Amino acid sequence: MPKPILLSVDDDSDVLRAIERDLRSQYGAEYRVIGSDSPESALDLLKQLKVRNDSVALLLADQRMPRMDGVEFLQQAMGIYPTAKRALLTAYADTNAAISAINEASINYFFLKPWDPPAEHLYPQLDDLLDDWQASFRPTFRGIRLLGTRWSPRSYELRDFLARNRVPFQWIDVEQTANDPETKQLLEALGPDAAELPVVLFPDGTKLLEGAPADVAQKVGLRTRAQTDFYQLAIVGGGPAGLAAAVYGASEGLKTVMIEREAPGGQAGMSSRIENYLGFPTGLSGADLARRAVVQAQRFGVEILSQEAVGARAEGPYRIVKLADGNEISCHALMIATGVQWRRLEAPGIDRLQGAGIYYGGGATEALSCKGEIVYVVGGANSAGQAAMNFAKYAERVIILVRGESLSSTMSQYLIDQVKETSNIQLWTHAGVAEAHGDSHLEEISVLCSDTDKIERVPASAMFIFIGALPQTEWLANFTERDERGFLLTGPDLLRDGRHTKGWTLDRDPYLLETNVPGIFAVGDVRHGSIKRVASGVGEGSVAVQFIHQYLSKV
Ligand SMILES: Cc1cc2nc3c(=O)[nH]c(=O)nc-3n(C[C@H](O)[C@H](O)[C@H](O)COP(=O)(O)OP(=O)(O)OC[C@H]3O[C@@H](n4cnc5c(N)ncnc54)[C@H](O)[C@@H]3O)c2cc1C
Repeated sequence: MPKPILLSVDDDSDVLRAIERDLRSQYGAEYRVIGSDSPESALDLLKQLKVRNDSVALLLADQRMPRMDGVEFLQQAMGIYPTAKRALLTAYADTNAAISAINEASINYFFLKPWDPPAEHLYPQLDDLLDDWQASFRPTFRGIRLLGTRWSPRSYELRDFLARNRVPFQWIDVEQTANDPETKQLLEALGPDAAELPVVLFPDGTKLLEGAPADVAQKVGLRTRAQTDFYQLAIVGGGPAGLAAAVYGASEGLKTVMIEREAPGGQAGMSSRIENYLGFPTGLSGADLARRAVVQAQRFGVEILSQEAVGARAEGPYRIVKLADGNEISCHALMIATGVQWRRLEAPGIDRLQGAGIYYGGGATEALSCKGEIVYVVGGANSAGQAAMNFAKYAERVIILVRGESLSSTMSQYLIDQVKETSNIQLWTHAGVAEAHGDSHLEEISVLCSDTDKIERVPASAMFIFIGALPQTEWLANFTERDERGFLLTGPDLLRDGRHTKGWTLDRDPYLLETNVPGIFAVGDVRHGSIKRVASGVGEGSVAVQFIHQYLSKV
């Protein structure tokens, strides 16, 4: 933890040097001593220190300075660091001014110049002030701070990105904490930059205004550039299938890179509790599974890139992936494990309020914010059931909206039982969202009840949508064969009337998980006909590595 700061201000450089020397020799081990020769630059410095979240224990200013005297400086500095101890350095002639400043400007002490010997005229009084400061000092948070507002989609995007990538950060909702003195002082210190929310403040003092996840990724050290331009195996997608392929590929000696555009873990990473994954009898959270898998993959030397794949092509034995930043990676074997993304709910108001009360998927970062609120979960599959169970821990009431008459055909029995046993979860059947209402954030929804054909308008603080998912494989169109919904065809699915698809030139059949382009494999939810489960994704990712070895032996 950085040391708290003792700041002295004096326009007389000899006096400044002398006070700095005496402070450093007595307190240098525990405090950082900084000197400034002008009150104006000292105030600027204090604002910078505030933005960096540094602690200031003492402000010591000479009374007689041109343009701004010591009392005025200390009064202004108090607005930035109200808990710092404030002391004046005065000449004998200014004693009266100093005494009245103690009363009027809440100054803690004044020292007469010269203060020799310091052991008598400086240290005992400062010891007392610093002991007093230490008694109420709470060390400040030293990590990343994110300032924004709860209903801002961009703030949500960054919060979600940091949380899912397991980057520790402090979230400061500037609206909710508007009356908190710390927030006020921080916003003041930020000046005009405070208008450019969301603002990310890094411990090194740098800041990112209206930043996007990709900017933050670079800053927090998530790798965005590949270490080399060739790999034996490149995997696009870091969900369970991609992570399993990475672990098996790298552990069996393949130079492996995994490209993930959001956060490793994929859909599974959003699950609050996976209870049907082998070996975890009490279940485990998706975040925990992802964290363990990432550590395992990295231990075997997998390189993980925080990037989006936007194109792919084949050049002789090379398979080339184009990344969103324009760079390319070439490999011998390419694995597509990009899973599926949430299907959009088509109703007025939904798109406008997305990120401002309406969320697709788990919204794990939102669960805590829903304390005491009324939350709607749309959908009847396991993902909706898990989310409802998670939100029920915080929300006053969770209402699951389903179009059908029950959950029995869409949700696993163990989850149906848990939902039934949770008193603050309610099931609303024959119900679909007709419209979302609210100005800056979701306030109400209109629900179409198909059994009565009536629309009911009800208050809603947040709505989480889980209505099925589709693959996003447009970037592979015209290259790999897809079914009518965009899922990738592999192995026997590529055979039509017993014949290979157009363009297949090898005299062998495609391997079980191989696409119509030799050396490009597809695993997990993105694959046509796959079972949409964590275990099956993990299984396919692991098995595909065997076919990749066979393929590589002939490249
Ligand atoms: C909330 C929830 C709860 C669930 N609970 C369970 C459960 O309890 N048990 C169970 O068995 N299954 C569960 N599932 C289903 C399970 O999570 C999925 O079947 C599984 O995650 C699929 O894994 P995958 O690796 O194929 O794809 P995904 O998990 O979808 O991962 C794909 C990854 O690829 C990335 N990606 C996509 N396109 C690109 C691109 N162009 N460039 C770079 N990266 C890209 C995505 O960001 C994503 O991280 C749940 C799903 C959800 C949403």
